[in-house]
Amino acid sequence: FAAGGPTDVIARIVGDHMSRTLGQQIVVENVAGAGGTTGITRASQAQPDGYTIMMGHMGTHGAAPALYPNLKYDPAKDFAPIGLAAGTPIVIVTKKNFPASDLKGFLDHMKANGDKVNMAHAGVGSVSHSTGIFFNSVIKAKPTMVAYRGTGPALNDLMANTVDFMTDQIVNVAPQIQGGNIKALAIATPQRSPVLPDVPTTKEAGLEGYEVSAWNAVFAPKATPPDVVKKLSDALVKALDDETTKKRLLDLGGVIPSATERTPEALQKLVESEVARWTPVLKAAGATAE
Ligand code: ASP
Repeated sequence: FAAGGPTDVIARIVGDHMSRTLGQQIVVENVAGAGGTTGITRASQAQPDGYTIMMGHMGTHGAAPALYPNLKYDPAKDFAPIGLAAGTPIVIVTKKNFPASDLKGFLDHMKANGDKVNMAHAGVGSVSHSTGIFFNSVIKAKPTMVAYRGTGPALNDLMANTVDFMTDQIVNVAPQIQGGNIKALAIATPQRSPVLPDVPTTKEAGLEGYEVSAWNAVFAPKATPPDVVKKLSDALVKALDDETTKKRLLDLGGVIPSATERTPEALQKLVESEVARWTPVLKAAGATAE
C-alpha cells in the first residue's frame, strides 16, 4: 500500500522497535497494487532467510481469496506467521462537507441520492474495500467505488472533499477526525474507542449488523527457518511490550494484541478463521475482482 496509510504507519511503528532489538534497520518498502496482494505475492516469493518479511492484514490474508480467483498465494499455507501487530477498528468517515453529519442522516441521503455518492477504497480485497462492500450490502447502497493505492491517498482526497466517504481503519483516520478535517459517523465496534469518545458505535447510531474490526500482522515467507521466525516473533512481542511503541499505537486508536494473541500459532488460527469468515460475506455481496 501507499506510504502514509495504516499498513505503512503500523509497519513503521513496530518496525522501529524491532530494528533496535534485532540490531538491523528494518527498511519499509511500500509495494502498492491489487489491494495489497501485489506486495504480499512478491514478499511470499522472497528468499526465506528472515530478511524479507511483510505486513499483511485482514484484507490480504482474509478477504483476498474470495475476490481473486487467481491469487498466487494461500494465506493459510504459504507463510510462516510471525505475529499480530495491532487490531484496527473500522470507522465510517465522510468528507467534511458531506450533506449529513450522523449515520441516520447519511442513510437517508444514501436512499435518495446513493447513486451519486463516491466511496473511496484501497483496491479490491483491501480492508477498506471488503469492509466497504460489507457496509454497502448491510445498508443496501450502491455508491460508485473509487480505487486508490492505499487509504493514505484516499484520505487526502476525502480531506480535499473530492471523494465522499469510506470505511477505514482507525489508525489512519483518528487524527483527522480529532482535527475536524473529516467527519466520523460511527465506529463499527461493540464499544466506543478511547481516542474517539464522541463517535457512537454503529449500534448506538441505530445500525444493526455492521460490526467489524481489522488487524495487521507480520508474516515471513513459508520456508523461513523456525529459529529465525522465533527471533522475529520475540522482537515483535518485545515491541508490543514497549511503552513508547504501545503509546504510539494506542494514540491512533490501535488495539494492542494480548500475550496469547501475539504468537505465530494464534496468527495462523486467525488467518484461517478470517478466510472462513470473509468468503461467504463477500460472495453474498456479489463482489469479485473483475
Ligand atoms: N491498509 C491499507 C493501506 O495502508 C488500506 C486498506 O487495506 O484499506 O492503505
